[in-house]
Amino acid sequence: MVTLPGEQARALAALDETAFAAELERRYGGRLGRMQLAGSRHVYPLVATWARRFVGPRLPLPAGDAAVGMHPVTAHGFNLGLTSVERLADLARTALRQGRDLGDPALLARYQRRHRQGSWPLFQRPARSSASTRTNARRRAGCAARRCVP
Ligand SMILES: Cc1cc2nc3c(=O)[nH]c(=O)nc-3n(C[C@H](O)[C@H](O)[C@H](O)COP(=O)(O)OP(=O)(O)OC[C@H]3O[C@@H](n4cnc5c(N)ncnc54)[C@H](O)[C@@H]3O)c2cc1C
Repeated sequence: MVTLPGEQARALAALDETAFAAELERRYGGRLGRMQLAGSRHVYPLVATWARRFVGPRLPLPAGDAAVGMHPVTAHGFNLGLTSVERLADLARTALRQGRDLGDPALLARYQRRHRQGSWPLFQRPARSSASTRTNARRRAGCAARRCVP
């Protein structure tokens, strides 16, 4: 996965296969050896989402990416979408078990709190890791180790 400003992403995607592979080799400084396009390329606009409200009067509002949309590098967006649905199902179970209204504001507030608290660390991760020199140092060490492996 390559993350670039829109114009650069479009220019990279427009290269023919040979030029594309050469450009990726250059970007990786040759650390990953010869590169070859193995499938089709897809360009996605990256839009982070953090819904202002996860619940409204008598109903939960968004789930999945509509509630929390993250940078794909976290590889957790789909998992988090499933988690939001699980939390909603949990809310419905609790309401049924306790004979409460599904739209009970206290239950909805609990869902909002749980989903916000559970999502925030993951949502923050890409920003933290790109800024973290410790992570960059780890990455450099990983690349150096790979160069040592025959
Ligand atoms: C390159 C890339 C790699 C990723 N890798 C991973 C990974 O490794 N692991 C992981 O967990 N997640 C990953 N994700 C994130 C994951 O794909 C998303 O988090 C997940 O697909 C979100 O699911 P969703 O159902 O909430 O939204 P979506 O999958 O976006 O589904 C929303 C649907 O609603 C439709 N829609 C939109 N507006 C309307 C409308 N007005 N009326 C009717 N339909 C509408 C859309 O067409 C779409 O089909 C990756 C994402 C990208 C872009």
